[in-house]
Amino acid sequence: VPEGDTIYRTAVTIQRWMAGREITAARTAPGVKADATALVGSTITRVEAVGKHLLLKVTSPEGVELVVRTHNKMTGSWHVYPAGAVWKRPERQARLVIEAGDRIAVLFNAPDIEISTPVIAQRHGVGHLGPDILTVPLELHAIVARINAEQQPRALGEVLLDQRLVCGIGNIYRCESLFLTGHHPWTTQRSITPLELDALITAAHTLMRANIGVGSDDAARNFGDGPNRPWVYGRTGRPCRRCGTTIDSRRQGEQARTAYWCPTCQPVRAQTSPS
Ligand SMILES: [Zn+2]
Repeated sequence: VPEGDTIYRTAVTIQRWMAGREITAARTAPGVKADATALVGSTITRVEAVGKHLLLKVTSPEGVELVVRTHNKMTGSWHVYPAGAVWKRPERQARLVIEAGDRIAVLFNAPDIEISTPVIAQRHGVGHLGPDILTVPLELHAIVARINAEQQPRALGEVLLDQRLVCGIGNIYRCESLFLTGHHPWTTQRSITPLELDALITAAHTLMRANIGVGSDDAARNFGDGPNRPWVYGRTGRPCRRCGTTIDSRRQGEQARTAYWCPTCQPVRAQTSPS
Protein backbone atom coordinates (compact mmCIF):
# COMPACT_ATOMS: atom_id res chain seq x y z
CA VAL A 1 0.00 0.00 0.00
CA PRO A 2 1.41 3.39 -0.92
CA GLU A 3 2.21 5.57 2.05
CA GLY A 4 0.26 8.78 2.60
CA ASP A 5 3.24 10.84 1.53
CA THR A 6 3.21 9.11 -1.88
CA ILE A 7 -0.45 10.01 -2.44
CA TYR A 8 0.25 13.55 -1.27
CA ARG A 9 3.07 13.92 -3.80
CA THR A 10 0.86 12.46 -6.52
CA ALA A 11 -1.87 14.97 -5.72
CA VAL A 12 0.62 17.85 -5.84
CA THR A 13 1.87 16.64 -9.23
CA ILE A 14 -1.59 16.25 -10.77
CA GLN A 15 -2.65 19.59 -9.30
CA ARG A 16 0.38 21.27 -10.90
CA TRP A 17 -0.25 19.65 -14.29
CA MET A 18 -4.01 19.71 -14.50
CA ALA A 19 -5.58 22.30 -12.21
CA GLY A 20 -7.35 25.18 -13.91
CA ARG A 21 -7.70 23.21 -17.13
CA GLU A 22 -10.88 22.10 -18.85
CA ILE A 23 -11.42 18.37 -19.25
CA THR A 24 -11.63 17.69 -22.98
CA ALA A 25 -12.09 13.91 -22.83
CA ALA A 26 -12.49 11.27 -20.14
CA ARG A 27 -13.09 7.55 -20.18
CA THR A 28 -13.07 4.51 -17.95
CA ALA A 29 -12.17 0.92 -18.70
CA PRO A 30 -14.98 -1.62 -19.21
CA GLY A 31 -16.21 -2.77 -15.83
CA VAL A 32 -15.58 0.51 -14.04
CA LYS A 33 -18.96 1.73 -12.86
CA ALA A 34 -18.07 5.42 -12.68
CA ASP A 35 -19.34 7.62 -15.54
CA ALA A 36 -16.33 9.61 -16.71
CA THR A 37 -18.19 11.35 -19.54
CA ALA A 38 -19.92 13.49 -16.89
CA LEU A 39 -16.56 15.19 -16.37
CA VAL A 40 -16.11 16.47 -19.92
CA GLY A 41 -16.43 20.25 -20.17
CA SER A 42 -15.76 20.81 -16.47
CA THR A 43 -12.68 22.54 -15.11
CA ILE A 44 -10.35 20.83 -12.65
CA THR A 45 -10.41 23.06 -9.60
CA ARG A 46 -8.39 21.17 -7.04
CA VAL A 47 -6.52 17.89 -6.57
CA GLU A 48 -5.83 16.78 -3.02
CA ALA A 49 -4.92 13.78 -0.92
CA VAL A 50 -7.06 12.82 2.04
CA GLY A 51 -5.37 9.97 3.81
CA LYS A 52 -4.78 7.43 1.08
CA HIS A 53 -7.61 8.72 -1.10
CA LEU A 54 -6.99 11.08 -3.98
CA LEU A 55 -9.74 13.61 -4.67
CA LEU A 56 -9.89 15.38 -8.03
CA LYS A 57 -12.51 18.12 -7.87
CA VAL A 58 -14.15 19.65 -10.93
CA THR A 59 -16.73 22.34 -11.57
CA SER A 60 -18.93 22.53 -14.68
CA PRO A 61 -19.56 25.84 -16.50
CA GLU A 62 -22.98 25.83 -14.76
CA GLY A 63 -21.29 25.54 -11.35
CA VAL A 64 -22.04 21.87 -10.71
CA GLU A 65 -19.33 20.24 -8.60
CA LEU A 66 -18.21 16.64 -9.00
CA VAL A 67 -15.49 14.70 -7.22
CA VAL A 68 -13.37 11.89 -8.64
CA ARG A 69 -12.32 9.83 -5.65
CA THR A 70 -9.77 7.07 -6.12
CA HIS A 71 -7.99 4.70 -3.77
CA ASN A 72 -4.96 2.89 -5.10
CA LYS A 73 -5.06 -0.05 -2.65
CA MET A 74 -2.05 -2.33 -3.33
CA THR A 75 -1.91 -1.94 -7.08
CA GLY A 76 -2.95 1.46 -8.39
CA SER A 77 -0.95 4.45 -9.50
CA TRP A 78 -1.64 7.80 -11.14
CA HIS A 79 0.57 9.02 -13.97
CA VAL A 80 0.50 12.33 -15.85
CA TYR A 81 1.78 12.65 -19.41
CA PRO A 82 2.03 15.23 -22.16
CA ALA A 83 -0.36 14.31 -24.98
CA GLY A 84 1.35 11.92 -27.37
CA ALA A 85 3.92 10.67 -24.86
CA VAL A 86 4.44 6.93 -24.51
CA TRP A 87 2.80 5.64 -21.32
CA LYS A 88 4.94 3.72 -18.88
CA ARG A 89 2.31 1.03 -18.50
CA PRO A 90 0.17 -0.79 -21.09
CA GLU A 91 -3.05 0.93 -22.09
CA ARG A 92 -5.08 -2.14 -21.08
CA GLN A 93 -4.12 -1.43 -17.45
CA ALA A 94 -5.63 2.07 -17.61
CA ARG A 95 -8.79 2.26 -15.51
CA LEU A 96 -9.47 5.98 -15.82
CA VAL A 97 -8.12 8.46 -18.36
CA ILE A 98 -8.68 12.21 -18.05
CA GLU A 99 -7.49 14.50 -20.84
CA ALA A 100 -7.18 18.25 -20.47
CA GLY A 101 -5.93 19.63 -23.75
CA ASP A 102 -2.31 18.61 -24.16
CA ARG A 103 -2.06 16.87 -20.79
CA ILE A 104 -3.36 13.47 -19.74
CA ALA A 105 -3.82 11.91 -16.31
CA VAL A 106 -4.04 8.12 -16.28
CA LEU A 107 -4.99 5.94 -13.34
CA PHE A 108 -3.60 2.42 -13.72
CA ASN A 109 -4.84 -0.69 -11.93
CA ALA A 110 -6.77 1.04 -9.14
CA PRO A 111 -9.78 -0.98 -7.93
CA ASP A 112 -11.61 1.87 -6.24
CA ILE A 113 -12.90 4.71 -8.45
CA GLU A 114 -15.95 6.83 -7.76
CA ILE A 115 -17.29 9.92 -9.53
CA SER A 116 -19.95 11.61 -7.45
CA THR A 117 -21.15 14.78 -5.78
CA PRO A 118 -19.00 16.16 -2.96
CA VAL A 119 -21.54 14.99 -0.37
CA ILE A 120 -21.47 11.39 -1.57
CA ALA A 121 -17.68 11.39 -1.88
CA GLN A 122 -17.53 12.43 1.75
CA ARG A 123 -19.99 9.75 2.83
CA HIS A 124 -18.56 6.84 0.83
CA GLY A 125 -14.91 7.45 0.86
CA VAL A 126 -13.38 9.75 3.34
CA GLY A 127 -15.99 10.58 5.97
CA HIS A 128 -15.01 7.73 8.28
CA LEU A 129 -11.33 8.52 8.27
CA GLY A 130 -9.43 9.98 11.19
CA PRO A 131 -7.50 13.24 10.84
CA ASP A 132 -4.77 13.23 8.20
CA ILE A 133 -1.27 12.76 9.61
CA LEU A 134 0.13 15.24 7.04
CA THR A 135 -2.06 18.20 8.00
CA VAL A 136 -0.24 21.35 9.15
CA PRO A 137 -0.71 22.13 11.94
CA LEU A 138 -0.96 18.52 13.07
CA GLU A 139 -4.40 17.74 14.56
CA LEU A 140 -2.76 16.05 17.52
CA HIS A 141 -5.61 16.59 19.96
CA ALA A 142 -8.22 15.07 17.62
CA ILE A 143 -6.01 12.09 16.79
CA VAL A 144 -5.19 11.33 20.42
CA ALA A 145 -8.87 11.66 21.37
CA ARG A 146 -9.81 9.01 18.81
CA ILE A 147 -7.05 6.67 19.99
CA ASN A 148 -8.03 7.09 23.63
CA ALA A 149 -11.69 6.42 22.79
CA GLU A 150 -10.87 2.85 21.72
CA GLN A 151 -12.71 0.44 24.01
CA GLN A 152 -10.07 -2.27 24.06
CA PRO A 153 -6.33 -1.85 24.62
CA ARG A 154 -4.79 -1.72 21.15
CA ALA A 155 -1.22 -2.48 20.14
CA LEU A 156 0.56 0.71 19.03
CA GLY A 157 1.57 -0.95 15.78
CA GLU A 158 -2.12 -1.52 14.96
CA VAL A 159 -3.23 1.90 16.16
CA LEU A 160 -0.90 3.67 13.72
CA LEU A 161 -2.31 1.74 10.75
CA ASP A 162 -5.99 2.16 11.73
CA GLN A 163 -7.23 4.75 9.24
CA ARG A 164 -10.27 5.50 11.40
CA LEU A 165 -7.98 6.87 14.11
CA VAL A 166 -5.36 8.66 12.04
CA CYS A 167 -5.10 8.39 8.29
CA GLY A 168 -2.16 8.33 5.93
CA ILE A 169 0.39 6.31 7.89
CA GLY A 170 1.58 3.20 6.06
CA ASN A 171 3.75 0.36 7.23
CA ILE A 172 7.11 2.01 6.65
CA TYR A 173 6.34 5.06 8.78
CA ARG A 174 4.54 2.93 11.38
CA CYS A 175 7.71 0.92 11.94
CA GLU A 176 10.16 3.83 11.75
CA SER A 177 8.24 6.13 14.11
CA LEU A 178 7.89 3.32 16.68
CA PHE A 179 11.65 2.80 16.50
CA LEU A 180 12.43 6.50 16.84
CA THR A 181 10.24 6.80 19.95
CA GLY A 182 11.43 3.50 21.46
CA HIS A 183 8.15 1.60 21.49
CA HIS A 184 7.65 -2.09 20.78
CA PRO A 185 4.88 -2.62 18.18
CA TRP A 186 2.87 -4.76 20.60
CA THR A 187 2.98 -2.26 23.47
CA THR A 188 -0.56 -0.95 23.93
CA GLN A 189 -1.71 2.65 23.85
CA ARG A 190 -2.88 2.21 27.46
CA SER A 191 0.61 1.42 28.73
CA ILE A 192 2.38 4.54 27.51
CA THR A 193 1.97 8.04 28.93
CA PRO A 194 -0.03 10.80 27.21
CA LEU A 195 3.24 12.60 26.48
CA GLU A 196 4.69 9.46 24.90
CA LEU A 197 1.60 9.05 22.71
CA ASP A 198 1.88 12.70 21.63
CA ALA A 199 5.55 12.15 20.82
CA LEU A 200 4.81 9.02 18.77
CA ILE A 201 2.15 10.71 16.61
CA THR A 202 4.34 13.78 16.24
CA ALA A 203 7.28 11.60 15.15
CA ALA A 204 5.19 10.01 12.38
CA HIS A 205 3.99 13.45 11.26
CA THR A 206 7.49 14.95 11.27
CA LEU A 207 9.03 12.04 9.36
CA MET A 208 6.32 12.07 6.71
CA ARG A 209 6.34 15.84 6.26
CA ALA A 210 10.12 15.76 5.91
CA ASN A 211 9.83 13.25 3.08
CA ILE A 212 7.16 15.00 1.00
CA GLY A 213 9.73 16.97 -0.94
CA VAL A 214 12.00 14.13 -1.95
CA GLY A 215 10.34 13.43 -5.30
CA SER A 216 8.60 10.33 -6.49
CA ASP A 217 11.43 7.94 -5.70
CA ASP A 218 10.45 5.94 -2.63
CA ALA A 219 14.05 4.86 -2.18
CA ALA A 220 15.07 8.44 -1.38
CA ARG A 221 13.08 8.54 1.85
CA ASN A 222 15.16 9.63 4.83
CA PHE A 223 14.37 8.48 8.35
CA GLY A 224 17.22 10.36 9.99
CA ASP A 225 20.17 8.15 9.02
CA GLY A 226 20.54 9.19 5.38
CA PRO A 227 18.52 8.42 2.22
CA ASN A 228 17.12 4.90 1.91
CA ARG A 229 18.47 3.83 5.31
CA PRO A 230 15.45 2.77 7.35
CA TRP A 231 16.21 1.89 10.96
CA VAL A 232 14.10 -1.26 11.07
CA TYR A 233 11.70 -1.50 8.12
CA GLY A 234 12.59 -4.46 5.88
CA ARG A 235 15.70 -5.29 7.95
CA THR A 236 14.76 -8.62 9.57
CA GLY A 237 17.85 -10.48 10.80
CA ARG A 238 20.21 -7.55 10.25
CA PRO A 239 21.94 -5.56 13.02
CA CYS A 240 20.26 -2.47 14.49
CA ARG A 241 22.03 0.61 13.14
CA ARG A 242 22.02 2.05 16.66
CA CYS A 243 22.85 -0.87 19.00
CA GLY A 244 23.72 -3.89 16.86
CA THR A 245 20.89 -6.11 18.13
CA THR A 246 19.29 -8.30 15.44
CA ILE A 247 16.11 -6.74 14.03
CA ASP A 248 13.00 -8.86 14.57
CA SER A 249 9.75 -8.96 12.60
CA ARG A 250 6.33 -10.53 12.78
CA ARG A 251 2.95 -10.03 11.16
CA GLN A 252 0.58 -7.93 13.21
CA GLY A 253 -3.13 -7.23 13.43
CA GLU A 254 -6.09 -7.83 11.17
CA GLN A 255 -4.21 -6.65 8.10
CA ALA A 256 -1.25 -8.92 8.99
CA ARG A 257 1.23 -6.28 7.89
CA THR A 258 4.78 -7.12 8.97
CA ALA A 259 6.03 -5.11 11.94
CA TYR A 260 9.81 -4.68 12.30
CA TRP A 261 11.53 -3.69 15.54
CA CYS A 262 14.78 -3.71 17.50
CA PRO A 263 14.29 -5.78 20.69
CA THR A 264 16.82 -3.62 22.57
CA CYS A 265 15.87 -0.11 21.39
CA GLN A 266 12.15 -0.98 21.59
CA PRO A 267 11.78 -3.06 24.77
CA VAL A 268 8.54 -4.87 25.49
CA ARG A 269 6.15 -3.22 27.88
CA ALA A 270 2.69 -4.38 28.90
CA GLN A 271 1.49 -5.64 25.58
CA THR A 272 -1.16 -7.59 23.79
CA SER A 273 0.06 -11.07 22.91
CA PRO A 274 1.60 -11.43 19.44
CA SER A 275 -0.72 -13.41 17.23
ZN1 LIG B 1 18.68 -1.22 18.58
